[in-house]
Amino acid sequence: MVVIGLAMLQGARHEHTEALRGAASELGIEITIRELRKSSDVRGIDAVVLPGGESTSMRIASKFEELYSHLWDEISSGIPVLGTCAGAILLCQENLISAKIQRNAFGRQIDSFECQIEVNIGNRIDAAEISPHVRDSFGHKPLDLGVKAASSEQGFPGVFIRAPKFTQVACEIIATLDDEVVGVQDGNRIAVTFHPELTNDRRFHRWLISEAVNE
Ligand code: GLN
Repeated sequence: MVVIGLAMLQGARHEHTEALRGAASELGIEITIRELRKSSDVRGIDAVVLPGGESTSMRIASKFEELYSHLWDEISSGIPVLGTCAGAILLCQENLISAKIQRNAFGRQIDSFECQIEVNIGNRIDAAEISPHVRDSFGHKPLDLGVKAASSEQGFPGVFIRAPKFTQVACEIIATLDDEVVGVQDGNRIAVTFHPELTNDRRFHRWLISEAVNE
């Protein structure tokens, strides 16, 4: 059984649960999702998702139970990681991704936007393979633009919420919005400045699960 850790301190966490479940069923792989709140939760995970939200709040929330210090050790030891938005900020700040990042660089909350971006990661997904994305226990549902975007070779629905920008990149570029780099890969670590979990295109979650299996 593949155990995927999901940092639960703050932010868009539950949508990742749904996206991971959908990705696992698309791949035909059984996974367990382990909710990570304290350091002792980290042992034995095969991969980890760092969600978006507010990176400063996440760091404050982590202090009480020291989740992050253990998580950084685990990621350093080689488990695959997907960091979205604030998660990408944390990965860059911890030097776990060879890139520099600037917070809130697209502007304020009101400047948040959705648009089509280009992605290029290993496992592509066909529209036909997309499993329905049901409402989660909180009633959250994904944006509709996913299926359409997933039917194109490279297009991906980019959802940017008070997003950061990569200011220097010394690893592979895997997602772009015109000339802007919005996703990078450094070995088995991916950091994106958008929110794939808010769409029903689960390429990134499929990537993470595949990496965990291949470890
Ligand atoms: N602005 C947030 C931060 O700096 C990131 C926003 C997000 O994760 N959507 O932490």
